[in-house]
Amino acid sequence: MEETLKILVVDDDEVDRMAVRYPLTEAGIKMELSEVGNGNDAFSALSTTAYDCVFLNYRLLYPDGLTLIQQLRSSEIKVPLVVLTGQGDEQIAVQLIKAGATDYLSKSKISPETLVQVLRSAIRVYRAEMQAALANQQLRESHEQLIRKNQELERQQQQIQMQNFKLSEALLLKSHFLATMSHELRTPMNAIIGFSQILLRPKFGQLTHQQADMVERILNNGKHLLMLLNEVLDFSKLEAGRLDLKGEIFDVSKVINLAVGEMRSLADAKNLSLLVQTDLQNPLVFNDPVRIKQILINLLSNAIKFTESGEIWVEVKELPANRVTIIVRDTGIGIAPRDFKRIFEAFRQVDQTITRKYPGTGLGLAIIDSLVRMMGGKIFLESKLGIGSMFKIELPRQITLSTEAADAPALQLDSDGVFCSAKNQHHSSFQASKASIGYPKFQL
Ligand code: ADP
Repeated sequence: MEETLKILVVDDDEVDRMAVRYPLTEAGIKMELSEVGNGNDAFSALSTTAYDCVFLNYRLLYPDGLTLIQQLRSSEIKVPLVVLTGQGDEQIAVQLIKAGATDYLSKSKISPETLVQVLRSAIRVYRAEMQAALANQQLRESHEQLIRKNQELERQQQQIQMQNFKLSEALLLKSHFLATMSHELRTPMNAIIGFSQILLRPKFGQLTHQQADMVERILNNGKHLLMLLNEVLDFSKLEAGRLDLKGEIFDVSKVINLAVGEMRSLADAKNLSLLVQTDLQNPLVFNDPVRIKQILINLLSNAIKFTESGEIWVEVKELPANRVTIIVRDTGIGIAPRDFKRIFEAFRQVDQTITRKYPGTGLGLAIIDSLVRMMGGKIFLESKLGIGSMFKIELPRQITLSTEAADAPALQLDSDGVFCSAKNQHHSSFQASKASIGYPKFQL
């Protein structure tokens, strides 16, 4: 041991103290040795000074060795303590260790070697005990910290649950409000549209040019409003899971042509060419024709709305594994990749300002997304700002309805992509389609 050790010898017999001092000096221990002759002085010395080790005579007069050890321990004075016992005191030594002594040594065995050995081991044991106590203390503290953090987490979890509950309640109320309002507004709107149409018929009397113009505006605005109301109603139904697909077998190319026909006047008004290419050997699909038309009308109205010049193409092709793809491309303003995901969220538009150039509710793509999901299909978007956009929808030729058991179709699609029943068989053939116009891509 290189450090200078502070050692205290407690013994009421001068000769016995010497019997400790000399061997320690002889052993060459670097030390500052202090001696006291009774327990009280020992207690005061230990209260004021930190010692590295104490040699204590067990047979101290007042207080005796055991009492002094107990006093030291109860006043939290920690020091390595070696008790020096007399002949036959070994039994007592065990008691002393239990009370808090670090070690004991019979006076008859005192020698430079034994003293150095017992001194080193007492200091080592004491330091190990201190380290263990410190580690224990740290463990206790981190355990308490963990408990506190757990309690905090539980509180936060309860708060989140409460907020979640309030949010879903608000969401439900919002959906209910949207559904009720759009439903209620549709009735007067239908009356406005109906009566404007009647007014425009010549048999109800001839309107002046100006009057006819005004009624036509009422009619067109009424139709536009009804379309917006229908969008809101569809969206609230989709959100509440109350929109059902009505499956039937139909010619998808006919539905596509119907939708394109309805949108042609809008494209013409902007001098946009609207081209359709149908490449289907088997045009029959099992799906909801009303919703397929709605999807196409939404995509086309966006394509027309966001294109100032150029063309809009609609393509329908067969894909492997009994799938059909519908593609709508335009040469419009395009969409930045950072907006690809956002625009499929309800009420999201690239331009969210109220002074925006292009009108709309921001529900069209959200509705398309939900419908395509319900049909078991996928949407892909490729677009480049200033160049144009391509929305590609891939659908299974035969969709699965949620209430399929109740109204299962009489016709089924077999593994070769053929609708079959006892009476009727329509064949389909397949062609891989990899529509790519080199734009950034996004798949929902
Ligand atoms: P709305 O058209 O009513 O705003 P949509 O959900 O149909 O709502 O579309 C959301 C947004 O996606 C549009 O506001 C527009 O910013 C963008 N978008 C959709 N289709 C196109 C397109 N063909 N070209 C450019 N931007 C488009």
